[in-house]
This record gives sequence, structure tokens and C-alpha cells, in this order.
Amino acid sequence: MRILSWLRSHALLIVALTSFSWVIALNYSGLHLSVGASVEPTAISPLPTRPNSAQLLLKSPAPAPTPSTPASSLLPGLRPRPSLNTPSPKASPKLGHFPYPQAELTTLVVVGKYGGRVEKLAPEAAIAWQQMVSAAKASKVSIVPISGFRSIDEQAMLFRDRVRRRGLEGAARSVAPPGYSEHHTGYAIDVGDGRAPYLDISQAFARSSAFQWMAKNAKKFGFELSFRPNNAQRVIYEPWHWRFVGSEQALRLFATAREQG
Ligand SMILES: [Zn+2]
Repeated sequence: MRILSWLRSHALLIVALTSFSWVIALNYSGLHLSVGASVEPTAISPLPTRPNSAQLLLKSPAPAPTPSTPASSLLPGLRPRPSLNTPSPKASPKLGHFPYPQAELTTLVVVGKYGGRVEKLAPEAAIAWQQMVSAAKASKVSIVPISGFRSIDEQAMLFRDRVRRRGLEGAARSVAPPGYSEHHTGYAIDVGDGRAPYLDISQAFARSSAFQWMAKNAKKFGFELSFRPNNAQRVIYEPWHWRFVGSEQALRLFATAREQG
């Protein structure tokens, strides 16, 4: 009688234990059955989700905005390019133009303005340029900068525009493809006559007093004409485009052009 009353009083516990062992056995066999009818057979209780790294980045406090820093000044850091200090691997000429590395932007020196645009050159070219401008001024000749350093991106826009109008071969006769302009180096400059702006970037510039003066004197300051009439590069005659060859670095950069151009 004692056993019976014990079984009665513990009936619930016994049923519970029996069910539990069945659940364990079934789960172990891979069937994943569960006693509770409300639970789906394959349901797995959801784990607390962890944010992935992108979400963490989004949630982390945003850096304070720096409105004083123009976006363009961040570009060199975002898209590293070969600089004069780290020469780019040898590349072959393209459409008659030789490859040139882009100057380190932070080293460039302002030499003047053309319209609203600031023109820059590499330091030693900038010094020689200022000396040449002063010497010309003493002879009542006004030499002005039109276009000095030009980035590869700017060249890409220029070249694309010219190709649209003249086709690939035609464009290359007057504009170098991006990565192939002497202007990338900071050692080339398009020159104008301050008293004859209507001659800017035209072959008629050869008639200006600025050109006449430079043809005689620019050499003393380390400047020479890049594209003479009938040059081997098949670039049109550009009396306005001069390169600086008065430093070792500049000479090294233009060695091929001077031999083969
Ligand atoms: Zn030029």
C-alpha cells in the first residue's frame, strides 16, 4: 500500500522524467523532436544577433567634420600614385607621348594665376621661372604662366574632350593621354604674353615679344621648348609649351623625350 500511495503521489514526477528521457533520446538520434507542441520540430531558439563589423563602424561615433579640409586635398591619400621620389615602372610611349610620373602635390610651388586658376611648378623650376620673369620684365617683356602642373585626372578630362572632337590619333597630336603629359611632373609650363593674351595657346604666340625673348634667353634659366616644328613625337608645334631641364631630377625625367622627341 505504501508503494501505491508513493506512486500516486509521485505520478506526475515519474511521467515528467519518462518524457524527458524520451526527448533526450530523440534529440540524440537527430530527430530534434520536442515535447511542447508549440515548438516547431526544427526550430532553434534564436541567438542574440551580433552586429557585423560594418554595423559596428556605422554605430561608432562619427569623426568630427573638418570643413576646412577640401575634399580634393584628401584624394592623393586615398589614391596613392607614383611620385617623383618613387619612379613608376617603365612604360612604353603612347600615341607618341612618353610616360611621366605625377609630382608630389605638397612639394609644388605657386608661380601665378591664369584666370582664377592657381598655377604651380616644382620648387627648382619655380625659382628659375621667377628669375626668368623678372629678367624679362627688366626688358619690358611680360611672361605669364598659363598652365603649370596638371594632375593625371585633369589630363584625363582634357584628353577625353579632345578625343571626342578629333578622334584618338588627332587628339594625341595636341594633347597627351593621361599619364603621358610633361605637365604631370611640375617641370613643364605653358607660357603666355601678358600684353597679348589673344595669342594664348596658339601658334601665333611665336610672333609675341614674350616668345621672342624666351627663344633667346630661356635657356639661361633652364627652360627649353618641348615641341618644335616637325618633332619626332608628331606633336604639333607648341611655341607656348616649355619644360625645365635645369636640375638633375628634371633632366632625368626628360632624358627620353630629349633623345627621341
Ligand atoms: Zn603644355
